[in-house]
Amino acid sequence: MTHVVITHMHGDHIGGLMTDGAPTFANAAYITGQVEFDAWAARDDERFESNVRPLAEKMRFIGDQDAVTSGVTGMAAFGHTPGHMGYMLESDGQQLMLVGDLANHYVWSLAHPDWEVRFDMDKAGAAAARRKVLGMLAADGVPFVGYHMPFPGVGYVETRGEGFHYVPHSYQLLMG
Ligand SMILES: [Zn+2]
Repeated sequence: MTHVVITHMHGDHIGGLMTDGAPTFANAAYITGQVEFDAWAARDDERFESNVRPLAEKMRFIGDQDAVTSGVTGMAAFGHTPGHMGYMLESDGQQLMLVGDLANHYVWSLAHPDWEVRFDMDKAGAAAARRKVLGMLAADGVPFVGYHMPFPGVGYVETRGEGFHYVPHSYQLLMG
């Protein structure tokens, strides 16, 4: 593992960073959003203190549109957490976006991006980020990977009605 890139600091996304009190990926570069780190550092969060703060000196902090490494760009999608980041991957002229927990349900989060979600810490911010990112993915035809999307976990966004619609990647291949 050469790079560990963190979308946000909910417990299920940072749980694997440390093993028995030591970094799981001892030689990796760690990259995460500055806003996200600062927000959790100012809280009193047990999981952050045990799994993220010990790695702070190894971390590089980025903002919106900053490069993680060649072909990987951070994109602010704040709301689910205060500094939640998405990451755009580019290779050979093709793009794929990692959206983290931007959209937690493949039907409802896309069809109703403005609906409030219990897990979103800033509900209005998260809704605005969903509209912005999903709108961009739909307009540009860029596939995305979300942690909570069904098999195969990668798909496209189409506009539908007032919201959006998830099209799994497998269907795309079948249609040729
Ligand atoms: Zn989350």
